[in-house]
Amino acid sequence: MYINGKWIETSQKEVIINPATEEEVGEVYVGGQKEAEEAIQAAHHAFKSWRMLSGNDRGKILVKIANEIMKVQSQIAETITKEMGKPITDARREVASAAAYLEWYGEEAKRVYGDVLPALDTKKQLMVLRQPVGVIGAITPWNFPVSMITRKLGPALAAGCTAVLKPAPSTPACAMEVFKCFERGGLPQGVANLVIGDADSIGSEMTSNSIVKKITFTGSTKVGKLLMRNAAENVQKVSMELGGHAPFIVFEDANLDDAVASVIGTKFKNAGQTCISTNRIYVQESIKDEFSNRLAREVHTLKVGNGMEEDIEMGPLINAAALEKVEDQVTKATESGASVVTGGSRIKGTKGYFYAPTVLADTTDDMKIAKEETFGPVAPIFTFRTENEVIDRANNTPYGLMSYCFTNDLSRSIRMMHQLDYGMVGINDPAPIVPHAPFGGMKESGIGREGGTSGLYEFMEEKFVSIRTA
Ligand code: ADP
Repeated sequence: MYINGKWIETSQKEVIINPATEEEVGEVYVGGQKEAEEAIQAAHHAFKSWRMLSGNDRGKILVKIANEIMKVQSQIAETITKEMGKPITDARREVASAAAYLEWYGEEAKRVYGDVLPALDTKKQLMVLRQPVGVIGAITPWNFPVSMITRKLGPALAAGCTAVLKPAPSTPACAMEVFKCFERGGLPQGVANLVIGDADSIGSEMTSNSIVKKITFTGSTKVGKLLMRNAAENVQKVSMELGGHAPFIVFEDANLDDAVASVIGTKFKNAGQTCISTNRIYVQESIKDEFSNRLAREVHTLKVGNGMEEDIEMGPLINAAALEKVEDQVTKATESGASVVTGGSRIKGTKGYFYAPTVLADTTDDMKIAKEETFGPVAPIFTFRTENEVIDRANNTPYGLMSYCFTNDLSRSIRMMHQLDYGMVGINDPAPIVPHAPFGGMKESGIGREGGTSGLYEFMEEKFVSIRTA
């Protein structure tokens, strides 16, 4: 753990398992409430001076850290692959994206402006200042164990906040690598602190300690709701990036090669373990057979295995429980009439939590897979007749994070863009995420945005000042 600029050891250790081999990756020291409290105190102390630096100076440090991250890109990527299984080429891309968030927010730190308002009384000067909210508690998941850290701490530190981070229990070494870069980049002590260990006690300390002014969380909707309830006690601000159930709509006028390739990208990247992964593929009835056959052919050729091998396209799931969840959804779907076009079972005879890339046809809206986030490499195909029908069905979910729509009709694109109840819409674009755009969800997919200037303002308070002159 990294608290107040020092690496801390505790009396307790936890073993980290490689999901591709089920072997030990290593051990980390873990703690709980005590370490969380120490870290919050350190962040509290550091806030006094960090907030007083100019945005320009804070930004220079963040850009330096981004450079430090890129110097050890390969090493961090290996840690990602060993801890959570994604293919090494994807892991390298994640590290680059993590650095890009720090760089962008480092540059943006010098562009935080206030406002001067017109006064009703000409003797008054009315102004709005933007100031950091204070100490923040950040909780991150394992599926993007490096970039989720910088997507939160980049804007928080740029804004002038100081932070305590709790990473996911399966990917602590990834967080340690990032914090080593913080250290090498010259981040002053106490500005960012890393606490690894028991989620409940660290989370509870973050939400019950009145020094903490904001909780920023990425993870399941269930834990997000719990944190929001607890954060209400001290009226802490919250940003929540929660679950998703992305529809991927393919109209008969779409470019099918492009749509198939894009389903592969959005469904099988990270073995389907992202909150913006495609969960429901809606294909217009007239192209259903052609689409599912083409998709199955491509899916069948995906190279699955240990992500450390350079040409692997899909790695394992994170753990045995994840594998069981996927198995359960597929079993329930097939029992209710869905058919397996390709895949449909775990990969047996090898170590590791591997599930075969799967395409299901004849899936219907009443099935569990149509409602519950899959977080696995299963592509269920649903069919629809009309545009209005598919809009209603796509929106019929408590989630509202990412949506994809493939069509070559411009007017339809515009109608879809307006009517999909999702925080993000990719029209003929399977990979729209960039550091300078707002990422986030509607409905139970979350509150607040990460990325872009919205992401920066999430960590700032507006202060209104009126000066009456003599
Ligand atoms: P997942 O199922 O994808 O792991 P979670 O929501 O359980 O999603 O985990 C996301 C993050 O939330 C992880 O860092 C995890 O340790 C943390 N977490 C889980 N339970 C709690 C809790 N009660 N309080 C605070 N953080 C928690």
